[in-house]
Amino acid sequence: TVYLDNNATTPLAPEALTAMLPYLSTDFANPSSASRAGTAVKEAIAGARADVAALLGCRTSELVFTSGATESNHMAMLGALAMAPEKRHLITSTVEHPSVLLLCRHLEQTGVEVTYLPVDASGQLNLAELRAAIRPDTALISLMWANNETGVVFPIPDIAEMARAAGVPLHVDGTQVLGKMPLDLASIGVLLFSCSAHKVHGPKGIGALYIQKGLGLPPLIYGHQERGRRGGTENVPGIIGFAAAARLMADIEAESVHLRVLRDRLEQGVLDCFPTAMVHGQAAERLPNTVNIAFRSIEAEELLHRLDQRGIVAATGAACAAGGSRPSHVLSAMGISRDDILTSLRFSVGRYNSRDDVEQLIRALIELVPTAEPAHQAAPA
Ligand code: PMP
Repeated sequence: TVYLDNNATTPLAPEALTAMLPYLSTDFANPSSASRAGTAVKEAIAGARADVAALLGCRTSELVFTSGATESNHMAMLGALAMAPEKRHLITSTVEHPSVLLLCRHLEQTGVEVTYLPVDASGQLNLAELRAAIRPDTALISLMWANNETGVVFPIPDIAEMARAAGVPLHVDGTQVLGKMPLDLASIGVLLFSCSAHKVHGPKGIGALYIQKGLGLPPLIYGHQERGRRGGTENVPGIIGFAAAARLMADIEAESVHLRVLRDRLEQGVLDCFPTAMVHGQAAERLPNTVNIAFRSIEAEELLHRLDQRGIVAATGAACAAGGSRPSHVLSAMGISRDDILTSLRFSVGRYNSRDDVEQLIRALIELVPTAEPAHQAAPA
């Protein structure tokens, strides 16, 4: 298979699997147990926390392990609202991940007012609009660092500065930036940062929330573990696997260059072969690994299916409802026409992709993508 859907999830690193195996068999002790075995597991978790903290650029005491970015996003947003009961306003954007948007929809039902900041045609926020949206009763600004569908990167350091000046906490959904660009949370005024291991070649079902030192964020799940901040017996193999994956990302600059070289070749190859194709967010700063392209001459679902038959995995980025697909909320928010959205595919490269994978994709696209007729004529009735 040629796997080009690394923004959805990544293959588990062999190093992560190896590190995890003992904790799925012999080293099964509960880290809360006072036994020697329990103490050893507890120490392994402490070491793992240090490895993940190094990747994020933060203190170990600032990291809480969760079940993934969805839970981290919930803990951050619900926690920030609980900390300021008199403040009932949230600011987010129209292009967030469903784990944020659906929570916001729920919160609206409970009387919280939510401002959804729009994005421009390149997928970028307008910072003046953000500043204008801040109110005395704003409990939290919650924005993603990079978009999972387009790779567009929001200027989080500038936003953090603005939030700090306004005295409003900032939560960042950093799920897509982890392992793709260097992070130094300590030097940026982000109070809360969510991430997930399975996007960086770690296992599924484990993630983390960074909580800046001194912020007394209440738990989402009560219990003694994680110093009272997240109850439940620790997902020990998950934590160990997350740390092993984080250690692989030690040379993040090299990691990032590898991704960018492959993505740039993929993008240029497509644009050379299909001059009418359009790269979404091309004018904005983007992740090094992501490209989302409107081919305009073939339905995305059809192309995805034909690529899949050849062992090439990509994504539409659109949420697939039973019996059909809805146009992506992210591309819609960028003002892309419905017709163009329905011809758009996302390719996201990862650590284990090679130049050969990209060449295989381009050869397949040359065979599968019509070059002349518009989509509505080319698509089967
Ligand atoms: N936020 C973003 C931006 C994501 O891309 C994802 C994963 N698709 C999530 C949150 C949810 O992560 P998890 O699967 O760990 O809950």
